[in-house]
Amino acid sequence: MMFRDIGFGKPVKLIVGGLHGNEGIVTEHILREILNRVHRVKLRGRLILCNLTKKEKYISTLCATYYQTDAGKRLLSLIRNYKPEIYIELHSYGKKAYSKLTHPRRKEFFGVPPLVDLEDGILLGSISPHIRTSEFRNHDLCLTLEIPKDLNGDTERKVIKILTLAITSHSQFVFLEKLREMYPSQIRIAEKDFYEYFNGIKPFGGSIKCQL
Ligand SMILES: [Zn+2]
Repeated sequence: MMFRDIGFGKPVKLIVGGLHGNEGIVTEHILREILNRVHRVKLRGRLILCNLTKKEKYISTLCATYYQTDAGKRLLSLIRNYKPEIYIELHSYGKKAYSKLTHPRRKEFFGVPPLVDLEDGILLGSISPHIRTSEFRNHDLCLTLEIPKDLNGDTERKVIKILTLAITSHSQFVFLEKLREMYPSQIRIAEKDFYEYFNGIKPFGGSIKCQL
């Protein structure tokens, strides 16, 4: 398991990968790239980087049983210990899963809204409903980033750019605003889907319409 705890204070940013299956091979690579850059960029607050596993049984985070696996328990204890304001789950997917993850009727089939393609197959969405409302506060920003397993250099740079924005942002609100500037139409769709799905979560503060 790769684990790093860097910086101090608020906001707390938790970026986790390797949640299940062999996704940890790709996600650890990304997390190490972030680690290499963290001293060159201005980190605001505290950053926790963790790759939970490299090879593990695949149980979807949409299944409640995931949170009873070793990786799932470790994930819950990280969230409970650090109480992050920015939480990013890094996943990776094979080409064949693309249509399943982005399918307009994903909600009918899998009970959750489709992920939104930011660009190059970098998919964005909220996190599992099993943890979004029970483990996080409404105003925390919780994202899933699904990245293609066969990541090329150009796409990898884009993923790292997104994560670097998270690291350098003063708050979850600033980070969300930067995402909106970078991917306006995609974030609009993701926010709308999120708001419809988690309609119990109310906007936090004046200018923030909603949180993913
Ligand atoms: Zn996954």
